[in-house]
Amino acid sequence: MSGKVTLVGAGPGDPGLLTLKGRTALEEAEVVVFDRLVGPEILSMIPPQARRIDVGKEASHHPVPQEDINRILLEEALAGHRVVRLKGGDPFVFGRGGEELELLARHGVEFEEVPGITSAISAPAYAGIPVTHRDLCSSVHIITGHARAGKALDIDFEALVRTRGTLVFLMGISTLPRIVSGLLAAGMEGTTPAAVVENGTLPTQRRCVATLETLLQQVEAMQIHSPAVIVVGDVCALSARFCWMEQRPLHGKTLVVTRPQSRSGTISRRLRELGAKVWEYPCIETVPKIPCPAMEQALLHCADYEWLVFTSPGGVAAFRHQMDAWGWDGRKLSGLSLAAIGPGTARALAEMGLRADYVPPVYDAAHLGEGLPAQGRVLILRAEEGDAGLTEALQKRAVAYDDIAVYRTEYASSQKESMRRALEQGEVSAVLFTSASTVRGFAATVGEQVDAGAIHALCIGPQTAALARKYGMTVQMAQEATIDSLVELACSGCQM
Ligand code: SAH
Repeated sequence: MSGKVTLVGAGPGDPGLLTLKGRTALEEAEVVVFDRLVGPEILSMIPPQARRIDVGKEASHHPVPQEDINRILLEEALAGHRVVRLKGGDPFVFGRGGEELELLARHGVEFEEVPGITSAISAPAYAGIPVTHRDLCSSVHIITGHARAGKALDIDFEALVRTRGTLVFLMGISTLPRIVSGLLAAGMEGTTPAAVVENGTLPTQRRCVATLETLLQQVEAMQIHSPAVIVVGDVCALSARFCWMEQRPLHGKTLVVTRPQSRSGTISRRLRELGAKVWEYPCIETVPKIPCPAMEQALLHCADYEWLVFTSPGGVAAFRHQMDAWGWDGRKLSGLSLAAIGPGTARALAEMGLRADYVPPVYDAAHLGEGLPAQGRVLILRAEEGDAGLTEALQKRAVAYDDIAVYRTEYASSQKESMRRALEQGEVSAVLFTSASTVRGFAATVGEQVDAGAIHALCIGPQTAALARKYGMTVQMAQEATIDSLVELACSGCQM
């Protein structure tokens, strides 16, 4: 049976602008053929078992020729695969989507097109420029500024000027001088508002708002590069008031999230929504001990304990692994009370259908040890080198416990070289630390050559902050040991 090709528009860059239908197609794909302008977040939605074909590689400055792309799509579909052809913006807006369908249609291959949000409308929108406005214009025109090699621009400037509509040029940065002079020669006023939006919808977005006469000079001064859209028309003047993107509290900031990838989702999303450029830099990995005889023995005798205590989602994960291996569920724990150090750990328990009976009012080891309403024996399942605050507090209260290391933490990052460079060049606004081990992981991976004082550390709680200070980092601490509070600190702290 022959397969199918779905042409999917990935949108202009902000991963939130991929359509639901596009995401579903991507998640069900067996082969994905993608372009240069598609960002990493969207590429990460491709299932790991799917084959990825990058046709936008610019290793030799020669992306794969169009005929070859057409042929790849045909061959993959004829081999019976569900193929997604992923393109920046909308596939049918200067995206050569039509050309790619021709060969498929000729061979009777089934295909579908999922429109995307085009940069022609969304990049201006993110710069506070509505491409139409009832008081200012009654049409919008999308034009390519690309000229075939050695050829003049094939644009009827007189016709465009007569429309008095908003003009949006794609692929026009290298031909901007010719576009401006063409419009002026066709009688457009030099004082007409005009703008360029670079990297539209991305955290690196820059905008340049000027007039037709001054645009070129400003674009050169700002060293604007492709991809960028050029907008000409009165609507550009609205940008000054409507540029909502730049108003967001973390706009222009680069924040590093050091949590392990599996748990970085919420915090990264929140920071991105607030306008930050987020660099996910997982530098610790929790590795469950498998097998873990001490935990096995303790759980087989769990009736001997009154409390089962967790101080991290990593501990819960190791415990869960053991339960799954035995085919156990919560019924085997009857009689045991459960404690979690904070909401994240409680949530990890909830995902197993278990409720934490006790969470301390302040989410740290000492408060957990002091407040745990235990009379009987306590079983602690946590990391190697766990915080001594917990066991010291229990000892002080003469509460008996078994402290079992069920996982260990490893420090590593494949991005350490680029992080070091970014830190040295002052490109990182702040680094968020959600545990002492992330501080240790970060310090271990970037190494000692980096000036620690230049690292602006935003820490979730006192232990984390104390360790960051010990490394010599410039430290600020969240008011409460929660992600919400840490995000708040990022918003206020990063203004410094
Ligand atoms: N199909 C795409 C356009 C492809 S042509 C779409 O619908 O958006 C490539 C041109 O699109 C670039 O030269 C640039 O002008 C524009 N472009 C694409 N992504 C952009 C972005 N994030 N910001 C500004 N312009 C962008």
